[in-house]
Amino acid sequence: MNSFHLKSFIRCKRKAWLDFKGKKSYEVWSPHKAIDKINQFQSFSKFCNGEIYSGLKACKNGYQGVIGLKIKGNFFQNINAEIRPQLLVKAKGISKWGPYKYLPAVYKLGHKTTKEHLYDLAFSSIFLETFQESKIEKGFVITKVFNKVNVEEIYLNKKLRKKVLNVLLSLNECLEGFMPEITQDRKKCTICSWQKFCDKEAKENGYLTDIDGIGSKTALLLKTNGISNTQTLASHSEKQLGEKLSKFNDQKYLKASVFVKQAQAYISGEPYCISNKNDTNDLLKKTCSGFYIFDIESNPDDKHDFLYGFLKINNSFPKNEDLIYEPILNLKNNKGESYRQIIEILFSQKEWPVLHYGETEKIAIINIAKELNFSFEEIDSLTSRFIDLHTLIRKSWILPLKNYGLKTVSNWLGFEWVQKNVSGSKALYWWIQYQITENEIFLKKIIQYNKDDCLATLKIAEYLIKNH
Ligand code: SF4
Repeated sequence: MNSFHLKSFIRCKRKAWLDFKGKKSYEVWSPHKAIDKINQFQSFSKFCNGEIYSGLKACKNGYQGVIGLKIKGNFFQNINAEIRPQLLVKAKGISKWGPYKYLPAVYKLGHKTTKEHLYDLAFSSIFLETFQESKIEKGFVITKVFNKVNVEEIYLNKKLRKKVLNVLLSLNECLEGFMPEITQDRKKCTICSWQKFCDKEAKENGYLTDIDGIGSKTALLLKTNGISNTQTLASHSEKQLGEKLSKFNDQKYLKASVFVKQAQAYISGEPYCISNKNDTNDLLKKTCSGFYIFDIESNPDDKHDFLYGFLKINNSFPKNEDLIYEPILNLKNNKGESYRQIIEILFSQKEWPVLHYGETEKIAIINIAKELNFSFEEIDSLTSRFIDLHTLIRKSWILPLKNYGLKTVSNWLGFEWVQKNVSGSKALYWWIQYQITENEIFLKKIIQYNKDDCLATLKIAEYLIKNH
C-alpha cells in the first residue's frame, strides 16, 4: 500500500481497493486528476521559488523542494508500505544529509483542509523521520488562490499519528479482503476514474442512489422502510411512500410521487410527461421568431470565463445552415472587449430569448450587466429573456436517466459530441494546456466543445418544443 491508496481510502474504500487490485482497463482517464497534478506542480514551484528537483539525489544536494521520492518501510507487524510525499520542503535542522532536513507538504484544491491532507502528511512524516534521521514536527498544506500561494502549517502531534496508524491498519485489511460495496455518497463518484465500472454494477443491482434526488440519507430511510432497490421503489404505492417520507414535510407526497415515477422511468426506459403545458407553450411562443443559445466555459478556481459561445437560430425548427455559432474568447480575463461583444450580440436582437442549460450563464450576465453599470430595470429586462432549459425539462418531464446533466439528457436524445469522451473538466484541462503551451490547437478543441454544448442544448429545446 502507498500514500495514493491512503488518499483514495479516505474518500471511498472501494476506490482504494480498485486502485490496488482493480483491472486497469476498466479505469477511465480523469481530467480532474490531470488538472490537479498541473495545479499542484505550479503551486509547489511558486512556493519553492522554482527550485524543485526530483528524487533522492535532490535531497542529498539540499534543494529547496523535492518531488518524486518514494520511501519504503514497515509500519506495523511487518506490514509493508510506501510513502510518496507530494513535496518535501527544506527546513532548518540536522539530518543524515547535512545541516538541514525536509518537511512534507501536500497540495489542497479549494478552501477546506480535510482528513485527506492531514493523514497524508502524518503518514509521510512517520517514514521520513526514520529515513532522514531527523524529527518532523510539522508539515504544510499548500493552495493556490488566484495565482497566490497560501501555506498552512499543520502540527503533526501524537494524536494525529496514532489516528493515521489506525487508518492504515483498516486500509491494509480492506486491501487484503473482497472488493468493498459502492459508496453510499454517490456524489463522490462524479470525479472518480472508476465511475463507469461502478455505475454499471449499481444499475444492475438496482441501487436506490441511482435514482435522481435520492442521496445516501434518503436511500437509508427507504431501506429502513423495506424499500431496498429501484424495483421495489417502482412498484410502491406513492401515497404509502409519502407517509414514510415525513422528513420532507409538506413536500412528502410530491417527493414520493417523483421518486416512484423516476424509478419506473429508469427501469422501463420510457419518459413520463408531467403536465406543464404553460411553460412549454411559452417556450414555443417566445422562440418562434428566433432565439439564442448561450454557453460559457470557465475556470472556477481563477473565476475566469474564458469562452462565451452564442448559437444564433432564426426559427424554431432550423436546418444546419440556419445556425450561426459565434465564440467570444476572453483569453487574458480583460473583460472590457468581450463584454462589449456579448452586449452587442444580445442587443442586436432585443426581443429574442436566450436559452441556456443550468444557472451559470444567467448569473454571468447579471454580473456583466452590473459591471457595465446597467440600471436595475435594464438588468431585469435583460435577464427576463433568459430561459433555463435544465429547470424547464425537470419541471416538464421525468426522464429514464440517472441525472439531468446536459450530457446525459442530450446523449439520450441521440446527440453526439464531435470529440469523444469530452466534459467540462476536459475543456478546463485543454484551457490549462493552452495557458502553458499557447498552442492554438487547444483553443480549437475548446471552441468545438462549446459549439457542441450549444447544439446539445438546442437538441433539448427541440425536444421540449416538439413534445409540448
Ligand atoms: S465510482 Fe464511486 S463507488 Fe466507485 S470507486 Fe469511485 S467513488 Fe467509489
